[in-house]
Amino acid sequence: MKKMKNALVILAGGVGSRFGDKIPKQFIRFNKYNLIEHFIMNINTDFFDIIVIACNIKYRKKIFEEINYLDIKHKIIYSIPGKTRQISSREALKKLKKYQPTNVLIHDSARPLCSNKLVEKIINSLSKNQTAIPYVYNNDRKIMKNNKEINSNIKLIQTPQGFKFNLIYKAHLKSNTYLLKDDASLLDNNNIKFIKGEKKNLKITFKDDINLFKSLTKTIFRHGIGYDIHRFDLSSKKNLKLCGTDIHYYKLIGHSDADVGFHAICDSIFGALSMNDIGFYFSNKDPQWKNKNSRFFLNFAKKKLIEHNFWIVNLDINFICEKPNISKYRSKMIKNISKVLNIPKTIISIKATSNEKLGFIGDGLGIAAESIVQITNEKPY
Ligand code: ZN
Repeated sequence: MKKMKNALVILAGGVGSRFGDKIPKQFIRFNKYNLIEHFIMNINTDFFDIIVIACNIKYRKKIFEEINYLDIKHKIIYSIPGKTRQISSREALKKLKKYQPTNVLIHDSARPLCSNKLVEKIINSLSKNQTAIPYVYNNDRKIMKNNKEINSNIKLIQTPQGFKFNLIYKAHLKSNTYLLKDDASLLDNNNIKFIKGEKKNLKITFKDDINLFKSLTKTIFRHGIGYDIHRFDLSSKKNLKLCGTDIHYYKLIGHSDADVGFHAICDSIFGALSMNDIGFYFSNKDPQWKNKNSRFFLNFAKKKLIEHNFWIVNLDINFICEKPNISKYRSKMIKNISKVLNIPKTIISIKATSNEKLGFIGDGLGIAAESIVQITNEKPY
C-alpha cells in the first residue's frame, strides 16, 4: 500500500446535546449545514489522503447530506466511537494504522469554524515538528478564590491538533486513562510544539455559542464580469458552437472550440472568485487545449466555485452579433449551462443584441459575449 501523507480524524461521537434537541449537536443544521459539513466546507480536503470520521452508525447518513457534491467520499472511512473522547480517538487511529500516514490531524466536530489557513499552518508545522497544537489566550481576567488573579498567560488549547502519526498512535496505546479531553494531553508538555490558533475557531458547547457561530458565518455576495470575442471562419462548414449548442452557422476561430459564450461565463466566475482569466488556466499556446470542448473549462470553473464554497445566485449572458438569431437557441443554451454548472435554469438569462451594422461585429465578422455572475457563500437553492 502506498504510504499516505496526511490523515484527518474528525471526532463526532458525542451523544450529548446541551441544546435540548434529540440529536447530538454536531448533526444539527445551522444555515443549512451540520457542524461537520461546515468544517469540511471551510477546508481544502486535498490536503488529506484519508479522512476518518468517528461517529455512530445511525448518524452516518446525516453527514454530507448537503455537501454530497464534494468529491471526497472515496477518501472517507468511519470508525465506531467509544464511550469517551479519548477512546474514540484511539479507535480512529487504529483504523488508520494500516494506511501508515506520516501525519494525522485530530479534530473535534464541535469546532466548525476552523479555517483552512489554520489547517495549512498545522500541516506545514509538522514538516519540522513532531506535533502542532493550536492555542489562543483568553482575553478575560481570571480570578480564583479570594479574588486572586491567576496567571493570565494560560493557553486555551484548540483542535485540529497535528501529530506525527506514530507518535500519537503509540501514546494512545500506552495510555491507561480514558477521560482525557484532547490528544495533546497524552504527551509530555516539553515535546509539544504550540502554534497560534484562531479566536474564531470556537468550540460550540453552549446555546450562546450558537449565536456567536451564526454571526461569524455571514452571507456574502461577490460579482464577476466576463467578455470574449471571436471571429468567424467564413470558409468553414457551418458548425458554430455557442454555450455548448450546435448551430448551423459559420464556425468561430479559436485555439479551443471557440465557444465564446462558455468563455465569457468562465471569466465571469473567475472574476467573482478573484482568480485569473481563462487564458491563464487554459493557454492558447498549450497544445492540450487545442480544439478542446469548452464544457471542460466551464466544469473547471464549477469546481473552483465548489472549492471556494460559493454558489451562483444568477448568471446573465449577453451576445452581440448580427447573426445567427440567438433567440432560437436560447432554451437549449440555458439547459446546457444549467447542466454543466449544476444550477437551476431559472437563474440563467441569455440575451442578445445586434451591433446596428457598426464595426467588426456589425459587418458580421464575429460574435462577442458578455457575462455577469453573482455568487454567494450561502447555498441559495
Ligand atoms: Zn474565447
